[in-house]
Amino acid sequence: TSTTDLLKVRDLDVQYGPAVALRDVSFDLPPNSALAVLGPNGAGKSTLARTLSGLVPPVRGSIELDGRNIAGRSPEYIRRTGLVHLPEGRGVFAGLTVLENLRMATMGDRRRRTESLNRALEIFPVLGERAGQAAGTLSGGEQQMLSLARALMVNPRLVIADEMSLGLAPKMVDVVFESLQRARAAGVAVLMIEQFATRALDFADRCLILQRGRVAWTGPADDAGSELLHRYLGDT
Ligand code: ATP
Repeated sequence: TSTTDLLKVRDLDVQYGPAVALRDVSFDLPPNSALAVLGPNGAGKSTLARTLSGLVPPVRGSIELDGRNIAGRSPEYIRRTGLVHLPEGRGVFAGLTVLENLRMATMGDRRRRTESLNRALEIFPVLGERAGQAAGTLSGGEQQMLSLARALMVNPRLVIADEMSLGLAPKMVDVVFESLQRARAAGVAVLMIEQFATRALDFADRCLILQRGRVAWTGPADDAGSELLHRYLGDT
C-alpha cells in the first residue's frame, strides 16, 4: 500500500516565474528501489530533482518522504529527513585526501562518525585503499564513487543522482553504476537522471518519462522497450 512508500509525489507543479517546468507530476518510490527518470532536453528532469531536494519550491502539490511532507522545506531539513542530492559534477575537494573528504561529510558524535566512516569504507573498499591520496588524482569514476560515499555518510534513505556519468569514459561509467549498485545493496533507494537510457533501465526497477514537464509514461523498467524509448526520447 501507499503508506509503505518511501517517496510519494502528488500533483506537483513547478514554475520558473511564468514558465511552467513541471505540471501534475505524481509517482511513488518504494524503499530501496531505483527509479530512472528519462526525457528529452528541457523535459524537467533536473527541475524534479531540485524540487525534491528543496532547491526549488513547488507552486502546488505534495512530496512525502517517509510520511513527512517535505514540499517547499529547506534543503537542510530534507537532507536530515533522509534525502541527499548528489551535486552535478564531482562535488569532491580535489586538494584534500580521500579520507579528509569523507571525514568532512560526517555528522554527529565521535562514535557515530567513526561508524559512518567504517560503513562507507566497507561499501567502497577502493576508497580505503586510496585513503591518503588527493581526491583530485582519482579517476573520474572514483571521484564519483567518493562523492556518493560522502553522501552516504549521513545515512540517507534516498539518493538523487543527476547525470553522474556525464563526460566519463565507458569504463568509468561502469564504476559509477557499480557504486550505485553498492549503495542499493546497503539499503538506499536511488532516483537516477541519466543520459544513457538503456543503462539506467538495466539498473532501475521503475522508469518515469517526462515530456514537456508532464509524466508521459511510468512503469516497470523492464516494460520500457526500444519502441517506447524511441517515441519519447528520439534517437538517443
Ligand atoms: P536537460 O536534459 O537539458 O538537463 P531537463 O530535463 O533536466 O533538461 P530542466 O533543466 O529541468 O530540464 O528544465 C525544464 C525547463 O525549465 C526548461 O524549459 C528550462 O529551460 C527551464 N528552466 C530550468 N531552469 C530554469 C531557471 N533557473 N529559470 C528559468 N527557467 C528554467
